[in-house]
Amino acid sequence: MTELAIVTGAGQGIGKAIAFKLARQGLAVGVLDINAKTAKQTVDELTREGFTAKDYQVDVADENAFATAVDNAIGDLGKLAVFVNNAGVAFIDSIVDSDPAAIRRLIDVNLLGTFWGIKIAAKRFIEQGSGGRIINAASLAGVEASALQSAYSASKFGIRGLTQAASKELAKYQITVNAYNPGVVRTPLRDAIDERTAEIKSKTVLEQQRDVLSEISLGREATPEDVANVVGFFASPEGSYLTGQSILVDGGMEYR
Ligand code: NAD
Repeated sequence: MTELAIVTGAGQGIGKAIAFKLARQGLAVGVLDINAKTAKQTVDELTREGFTAKDYQVDVADENAFATAVDNAIGDLGKLAVFVNNAGVAFIDSIVDSDPAAIRRLIDVNLLGTFWGIKIAAKRFIEQGSGGRIINAASLAGVEASALQSAYSASKFGIRGLTQAASKELAKYQITVNAYNPGVVRTPLRDAIDERTAEIKSKTVLEQQRDVLSEISLGREATPEDVANVVGFFASPEGSYLTGQSILVDGGMEYR
C-alpha cells in the first residue's frame, strides 16, 4: 500500500518544495492549500514527473474542514505516514498600529492551524497503530523575535512549544513531532515581509534585502529546497530517533 504525506500550504514556496522532496522519497502527496489554483498547479507538476499526488482546498484554521480534507486524502491516496503543518501567513506592523482582526487571523492560521493539524494527524496515526511523523513550520522568528513581527513571532514561539508538548504526549505511540525554523527563504511570503519592512523603515526593498543578507554567515538566502531537505530528513528512516526538536535552517544567522 502506498504511504501518504500530507503537506499544508503546498501550493507554492517552501510547502511546494517539501511536496516534491517527499514525493521523491517515495510518498504519495496530499497537497492541501487554501488556494485551489496553486494547489492544482503543484499537483499537475508532480504528476507530470510521474509522482502520485492530489489537491484539496482547505483553510487550516477550520478544524472540521481540515479533518475532512485529510480523511479524503487518506481515502484517495493511502495510509498516513508523514504530516507537515507548513501553511502559514505573516504580516509586518508595529504593535501600536496592529489590527486586531489581522492578529486573530494570523494566530488562527499559524498557531491554531498547526494545533488542529497535530490533533488530526495524531488521531489517525493512533487509529492506524502505525506511528508517524509530524513536522511543523516554525521560524527563526520563533527562536529570537523581531521588531515589527510581534504576532508572527508569538505564533512561531507557540508552534515550538506545541511541538515539544506533542512530542512528549505522542511518543508512546511512536509518533515523532519536530519543527523546522527557516531563516530567509525567497518566497512570496518573504517578498511581502521585505516590502512592508522597507516601507516602515523608509528604505528601498533592495536595501532591506541587503541588510538581511549581511546577517547570513553563508552569504546567501535559503532556497525552498534547503528547507525541504531538512523536512525530508525528519520524514526519513534516518530521522526516526529525533523528536521534540526544532532546527534552524538559516545559513548561520542565530547560534543556539
Ligand atoms: P508562502 O506564502 O510562499 O506560501 C504559504 C502557502 O500557504 C501558500 O500557498 C498559501 O496559499 C498557503 N496558506 C496560507 N494560509 C492558509 C490557510 N489558512 N490554509 C491553508 N493554506 C494556507 O510562504 P512560505 O515562505 O513558503 O512559508 C511556508 C512556511 O514557512 C510558513 O509557515 C512560514 O511562516 C514559514 N517560514 C517562512 C520563511 C521564509 O523566509 N519564507 C521563514 C520562516 C518561516
